[in-house]
Amino acid sequence: MASLILLLGDQLNTKISSLRCCNKSTDLILMCEVVQECTYVKHHKKKIALIFSAMRHFVAELNENGFKTIYVKLNDPENTGKLSSELIRITRLNNIDSILVTEPSEYRVLQELKSLKINIQVNILDDDRFYASHEEFTHWAKDKTRLRMENFYRLMRSKHKVLMNETKPEGGKWNYDKQNRNFPKHLKNIPDPVQFIPDEITKPVLTLVENQFHDHFGDLYPFTFATTRKQALKVLNDFIKHRLAHFGEYQDAMLQNQPYMYHSVISFYLNIGLLLPKEVINKIESAYTKGNIPINSAEGFIRQILGWREYVRGIYWLNMPDYAKKNYFKAQRKLPGFFWSSETKLNCLHQCINQSREYAYAHHIQRLMVLGNFTLLTGINPDEVNEWYMIVYADAFEWVELPNVSGMILYADGGYLASKPYSAGGAYINKMSNYCESCHYDVKQKSGPDACPFNYLYWNFLHTHRKKLGNNQRLAMVYSTLSKMSADKIKQIRLDSKNYLSTLN
Ligand SMILES: Cc1cc2nc3c(=O)[nH]c(=O)nc-3n(C[C@H](O)[C@H](O)[C@H](O)COP(=O)(O)OP(=O)(O)OC[C@H]3O[C@@H](n4cnc5c(N)ncnc54)[C@H](O)[C@@H]3O)c2cc1C
Ligand code: SF4
Repeated sequence: MASLILLLGDQLNTKISSLRCCNKSTDLILMCEVVQECTYVKHHKKKIALIFSAMRHFVAELNENGFKTIYVKLNDPENTGKLSSELIRITRLNNIDSILVTEPSEYRVLQELKSLKINIQVNILDDDRFYASHEEFTHWAKDKTRLRMENFYRLMRSKHKVLMNETKPEGGKWNYDKQNRNFPKHLKNIPDPVQFIPDEITKPVLTLVENQFHDHFGDLYPFTFATTRKQALKVLNDFIKHRLAHFGEYQDAMLQNQPYMYHSVISFYLNIGLLLPKEVINKIESAYTKGNIPINSAEGFIRQILGWREYVRGIYWLNMPDYAKKNYFKAQRKLPGFFWSSETKLNCLHQCINQSREYAYAHHIQRLMVLGNFTLLTGINPDEVNEWYMIVYADAFEWVELPNVSGMILYADGGYLASKPYSAGGAYINKMSNYCESCHYDVKQKSGPDACPFNYLYWNFLHTHRKKLGNNQRLAMVYSTLSKMSADKIKQIRLDSKNYLSTLN
């Protein structure tokens, strides 16, 4: 009896459930580079190169370790370009009794596998890289009309005994975010993450991507990502040694020409399997226990992985496919062209878009409070925003991208994921960055042609959606301020917004 194990491009770990079931002497492992996965949205060139290169390194490792593998390259003449048709083709060419696959991370791919027209059994195994199974999340979310990450996170901390002192959170508090709002403008000499020179496996991948996907967004060179587990572990260990201690303090800070700040830059590797969430959390906790790391950094970092990452995955699987259609504010505007060209006078947007094109990376606050905030305040259609985020970031997979975009930045689910919209005027961006210092607009001005557009768009957004947001307790203060504004002031806000928005069409 031989099984064909389909290994997807984001399952690159020998501990993945499908490989744990592999019988080395009989089973065949199939990995394929298919054009459909590169073009259903036109992914950033660096992302395609990362995944193909990591796949090619991983198959070499499997071969060295005695696994039987079939690797279909993008330009192999027989390659049919689709996962499902490749599965059928390879099954027919070999003597296969069943197909085994760890559950794909994206709904779209799962549906493709479920509708496979093949007369042998297809077994789909749980993806147990995560802390919470679908069943556990569903059980937790049951009967709740609105979910809160903080409650889920506390449950995960207690259950998995992460940063816990018996039944109490380490240090006495669950959350140290109040210490994590540091003014960043004096920061210098921030250590860069480890970078790698392309090797003999990566180089042909870069040529392939350059030739085949030249019209995709993003700079391919320089390509310095880790492409093996060993390298990804180096990135993680280096982060723990050189940057984790300041992660908490500066996690919301943004500085021009400093793409990484004190962030870990491991999402690429976590999402494709080169790193496992549990090993990351164990390492962070052990660095904290050794006394090298302050609690606000250790807790803040662990919350991102044990809290947010698990929470958004739970929401995704619980609510697909409906979640992808949410549009609470009925936002219809098209994404402005400058999201591709970066040609805009708003320096914060210009910087974040440029950086995303260059690195296929932006850190959380850039994605949330600059780019996301702008798309929320200007009413861009969720489909357009989701597509942009899926294309632009090398860590973008729908299970994590969609809830962050539709739920967190656009509030398109009406407050199911987040308790209030993450909206802000220019003062927040000015407080957390140095972007405003070299901007065409004046962050201090509230109205008129030179005023920072975030200032009036923020109030215009709240005014426009008063019916939908006015009863939200977390917005009580801002709505009270809005209510005290004179009719003339509101008229000016509306006029400035109308003028600005008309330039986006
Ligand atoms: C609009 C928007 C879109 C996003 N799209 C993606 C995406 O497609 N893929 C992705 O992995 N992350 C996404 N995120 C979450 C987050 O911005 C990135 O995980 C993070 O910036 C990656 O950089 P890092 O590894 O340096 O993270 P760090 O800041 O060092 O955080 C450590 C890890 O925590 C996890 N994490 C942190 N925040 C989140 C979050 N909100 N949701 C899930 N995991 C989180 C990531 O795995 C990350 O590697 C998005 C956030 C926003 C606001
Ligand atoms: S002034 Fe406004 S638009 Fe310019 S960088 Fe600051 S926040 Fe962005």
